[in-house]
Amino acid sequence: MSAVPGDTTLDAAGMRAWVAGVATAVAAERDRLTELDAAIGDGDHGVNLTRGFTAVTAALQGSDADTPGGVAILIGRTLISSVGGASGPLYGTFFRAMGKAFGENKAVDVEQTLAGLTAGLAGIVKLGSAVPGDKTMVDALTPALAAWEAEVVDGATLAAAARAAVAAATEGAEATIPMEARRGRASYLGPRSVGHEDPGAASTVLVLAALRDALEHRTS
Ligand code: ADP
Ligand code: MG
Repeated sequence: MSAVPGDTTLDAAGMRAWVAGVATAVAAERDRLTELDAAIGDGDHGVNLTRGFTAVTAALQGSDADTPGGVAILIGRTLISSVGGASGPLYGTFFRAMGKAFGENKAVDVEQTLAGLTAGLAGIVKLGSAVPGDKTMVDALTPALAAWEAEVVDGATLAAAARAAVAAATEGAEATIPMEARRGRASYLGPRSVGHEDPGAASTVLVLAALRDALEHRTS
């Protein structure tokens, strides 16, 4: 069954609304993300993401991409080319892999969106080799996608699945506080990384919350 535009699907406009929300959120939370990164990294995470999503906003304005996959691939490419830190290639790979999974579809339903998010997470893991428990963005994304999948099994709408994913990602990000980092710059600190929330896990909550908001607030 092919997806039809409407309340039950995510189309190119929905993707654009999502990423506009991410751009607003990372700019608003830039200092918090940077403070988290200052504690266990080099203090640039908020700046990196703000730069990246500002570039994404400009790239999308100049593009007529009209499928969710086309929009996602442009987001991914732009993040990879505009962010110097680890998070640029990682989030860039996430969106690019998602875009490839969406293919040529004009709109994707709750299950196809999960498939895209899952491909995105697999791209992050392939690039960065992090597993759950390593104190990275993977610790927020993994439970988020498990929660999304449980909603799919229950026949939930996209917005309901996204709400459950945000709740699980928030818990996952909080659960990074007692972890010792094993990937990225924070791993250089060893045991001294314990007691701080991972900045990439915190920004993953913002990314998913923007998707939830785009799905909840749309009019079409
Ligand atoms: P950098 O570490 O290069 O300064 P950022 O500060 O923008 O880059 O991003 C740091 C975040 O990237 C971390 O908090 C973590 O969530 C994520 N990260 C770093 N390395 C990895 C990895 N190998 N796998 C998954 N996520 C990672
Ligand atoms: Mg950093």
